[in-house]
Amino acid sequence: MARNLDAKCRKCRREGEKLFLKAEKCFTDKCAVERRAYPPGQHGQKKNTRLSEYGGQLREKQKLRRIYGVLEHQFRLTYKRSEQARGITGENLLQNLESRLDNVAYRMGFGGSRAEARQTVRHNGVLVNGKRVNIPSFQVRPGDVVAVADRAKNQLRLKSALQAAEQRGFPEWLDVDAKEFKGTFKALPQRSELPATINEHLVVELYSK
Ligand code: ZN
Repeated sequence: MARNLDAKCRKCRREGEKLFLKAEKCFTDKCAVERRAYPPGQHGQKKNTRLSEYGGQLREKQKLRRIYGVLEHQFRLTYKRSEQARGITGENLLQNLESRLDNVAYRMGFGGSRAEARQTVRHNGVLVNGKRVNIPSFQVRPGDVVAVADRAKNQLRLKSALQAAEQRGFPEWLDVDAKEFKGTFKALPQRSELPATINEHLVVELYSK
């Protein structure tokens, strides 16, 4: 599978906000956006770089793809599914992205970043309702129980990620039992529970042209 290997917090600078791509780093002031709050590259400090309407829509889509670590093709498919489902397309999109197994595992603290959580999923380190599922894009449904497989419970990296997540506090829509290395995906997150810095309507505008 193709991967984008740009320095993680460089992407934070590109988007002008923390994307939490890198385990721990983004939670601290080591994140590059804290030091240099302008886009990377030779032209990063140019003034009057107002984006066109299209440019703004494109940036927002890239930002969302980067946050959730989804490649263009898969992002498109997720969008299509969101469009066809009942309800508001933009909200469906965010809910579908949030329901990805790699994201749920990350939210539950089974990895310090989505990339780390995805690796754990790929390496058979995660169970859904007691069954091994190694597909990062697998859609978790309300009521599903996601747990760390025994084989992965002793990984120091995972343990410390879980501890840090517990200290920060888990999202409302999850019920996590850190001692048992498992959690329930209680419900789809409501729009108000997700960051206001995401402008999903721009993505909808982009794709409905
Ligand atoms: Zn960062």
